[in-house]
Amino acid sequence: MLPFSEALKKIMEQCHALPVTTLPLNKLNGSVTAEAIKTILPLPRFDNSAVDGYGVKFADLNTATEETPVKLKIVGEIAAGQAADFELDQTGTALRIFTGARVPESVEAVVMREYCHENDGYVHIDCEVQKGANIRIHGAEFAQGAEVIKARTRITPPVVGLLATLGHANFAVHAKPKVSLVITGDELISPGLPLADSQIYDSNSFALEAALTDLGISECKKFYARDNREQTREAFRLAFLASDVVLSSGGVSVGDKDYVKEILEELSVETIFWRIAMKPGKPVFFGTYKKSGNHSRGLVFGLPGNPVSVLVTYHQLVKPALLSLMGLKEKTNQNQTMVLKGALKKKAGRLDFIRAKIQVNSDGVSAAIPSSKQDSHMMTGLTGADCLIHFDIDAEELHDGQKITSTPINWHG
Ligand code: AMP
Ligand code: MG
Repeated sequence: MLPFSEALKKIMEQCHALPVTTLPLNKLNGSVTAEAIKTILPLPRFDNSAVDGYGVKFADLNTATEETPVKLKIVGEIAAGQAADFELDQTGTALRIFTGARVPESVEAVVMREYCHENDGYVHIDCEVQKGANIRIHGAEFAQGAEVIKARTRITPPVVGLLATLGHANFAVHAKPKVSLVITGDELISPGLPLADSQIYDSNSFALEAALTDLGISECKKFYARDNREQTREAFRLAFLASDVVLSSGGVSVGDKDYVKEILEELSVETIFWRIAMKPGKPVFFGTYKKSGNHSRGLVFGLPGNPVSVLVTYHQLVKPALLSLMGLKEKTNQNQTMVLKGALKKKAGRLDFIRAKIQVNSDGVSAAIPSSKQDSHMMTGLTGADCLIHFDIDAEELHDGQKITSTPINWHG
């Protein structure tokens, strides 16, 4: 069986950033920049005050002490958004100035209002100031034309803020993949409906939909198939027409009612692999299909049916692929070294991803505590987990206190 790292490599080889599209500011979060962000304006754009206070000449405050405050005549006021129409052209004068207001050239420092006392058109200041104090100099953060964010960077709320600061109403990003879900299983019924004997609620479609939403893919189409060839074929056929990526749930193992692999082959899917030496996730299928009206190929993942398996394989295999299609170059799922709390045993042959909770010890070392519910149908083993311990393919024992590799669980990226 294919080792996990080989499987991931084969998946990533099939992933190419989707074409560039332009989105408005309120749709950009979570997308990946298709070009570098350059400062089309210097930042700050003009000299402005960092505080509410009084603009002064440096020399006027030379003699200020608590016992002998300096008294300056207020010759004007500048608020945020107003033109800096006043200058300090005489000694002994000051300007009332507000946070964000333009600071005229003749002002050499702004004294915070808290250190001043105003009376009868004069301000009394009893402390010295540094030259340039509380003035945000234009271009101090970045000169005009500087590259501040590289192409292929994930857009986060501060990046949206930066784009808006620079005046971009929209920006070029890689398109997000259109994803469809094919949910198989005779036993499934939608949550909210009454359960008949032997039925269970479909949880995978909702869990996958939630995972996609966390990645910034807010819409996915769902196609349901009972465990027969016709419905499975029709569900995949429609999903292929609608999507860049198709994720199926269940029916991909070796049972008599597992039609996914057979139908995918029938639909001319190019099989890249079927089955991985990992647990959970052994039956995962991965292939590519011809997209309608398009030269590029779509990706199809046949994920297992067990609810924990579907989410673990999504996290470890599908999420990196989706981020790569979205244009992200950096590797996702960066592993960390932690210390195991407890002991584990297994048979050699598969890489086990053990659901675990991270606890940071008093010495700053992260310890991973395996969840007590490790079966692939036990969702609570995953709900309380924040990392996946790698129990290596050939290993049969892990000891308490041993160093281990683990992947922090992150649904966002
Ligand atoms: P399968 O791979 O189709 O044999 O499914 C494996 C296990 O996962 C079975 O116990 C199924 O009942 C369960 N399962 C399959 N699909 C879903 C689903 N959408 N929601 C919840 N459980 C499922
Ligand atoms: Mg099934």
